Amino acid sequence: MKPGYYFQSDLLQLLLDNLLRDGYTCIGPQVRDGAIIFDRITSVAQLPHGVSDEQAPGSYSLNHSTTSKYFDWANGPQAIKPLLFAPREKLWQSAQSVDGQISFKTSEPDLKPMAVIGARACDIAAMKIQDQHFLQQQFVDPYYRARRENLLIIAVNCARPADTCFCHSTGDGPFVDDSVDSNGADIVLTELQDGFLIEAHSNQGKKILKGLPLHDSTKQHLEESESIKSGASKQNRQLPKFDIKSRLFNELNDEAWHAIATKCLSCGNCTSVCPTCFCHSENDVPELDGKTSSHYREWDSCFSQGHSYIHGITIRSETSQRYRQWLTHKFASWFDQYGRSGCVGCGRCITWCPVGIDVTESLAHFEERRRD
Ligand code: SF4
Ligand code: SF4
Repeated sequence: MKPGYYFQSDLLQLLLDNLLRDGYTCIGPQVRDGAIIFDRITSVAQLPHGVSDEQAPGSYSLNHSTTSKYFDWANGPQAIKPLLFAPREKLWQSAQSVDGQISFKTSEPDLKPMAVIGARACDIAAMKIQDQHFLQQQFVDPYYRARRENLLIIAVNCARPADTCFCHSTGDGPFVDDSVDSNGADIVLTELQDGFLIEAHSNQGKKILKGLPLHDSTKQHLEESESIKSGASKQNRQLPKFDIKSRLFNELNDEAWHAIATKCLSCGNCTSVCPTCFCHSENDVPELDGKTSSHYREWDSCFSQGHSYIHGITIRSETSQRYRQWLTHKFASWFDQYGRSGCVGCGRCITWCPVGIDVTESLAHFEERRRD
């Protein structure tokens, strides 16, 4: 790890106060309804202090941590995706005037600066994939771009991955990519026993660091950080090492798709919690006045009945086809679209699947088939 700066935990509030003073709406992790979610924050007292999570396929719970750290947990059901790609938003409105003319008015993107504290390495990796989708194609999404340009990201390196995490095997964690020009996090924190290592990864991050009374990190701090990194890299799950893309494409008629479909509820939880999924639907909502109508975009899922409906035909009418679509897109055709897999190993789809379907197990089945 590069030498950086250190500050004691009681200065975390000063960081938050400085951001609020500079006009940022601050978003941070907090415990709500038995899970860690992201919401507005003004005080470090709102952070999940001394809390850790326990995750397994289809299971999530919070416990008292053996430490008094603020970030001694892996992740909750949300990544930072909803802060950039809104779950539901109005794109435009149409209105009919008294002479019958129809006019259209687009909704203005929100330009308020926002700072999110507590994003994880997998969240940053997923955001970079969404950047490719929303910003680096022929058409740029103005709503995503406005939020992205106004989002300051204070990431926290993971010290305690969940049983369902496998970011180490996808190359996306547990520590944030520390190249300064990686266009991801602005500031990266590593929580030590009694304080934080802090590094700026952008010019905006450097400016914020200037407002804090920091000390140079010591050899002991860096050793503690390295030991946290190596502990967090030991994860219980991993992606299989064979050529997943060609194997999946060669096994489109495998009986495994039907076997998984006997469990899968087609509920779409996996796609809702996945930080890289970007499928959406668009709908018009007419107002009761009969003259105006609003056009909304909202998250959709490849598991929904309507998502593959095209001109009178539902192309993927069976759950086996939908699960196959999800897995082959995420781990195979995504390479053709974006040059990498669509999975950053956050494990959320495993934890939040109500019947505990595990993508690493689904993929391992095809490894077994290869050996047949
Ligand atoms: S596929 Fe599952 S493990 Fe991979 S990024 Fe999506 S939610 Fe996370
Ligand atoms: S894999 Fe699990 S979370 Fe995804 S649709 Fe099926 S039952 Fe729901």
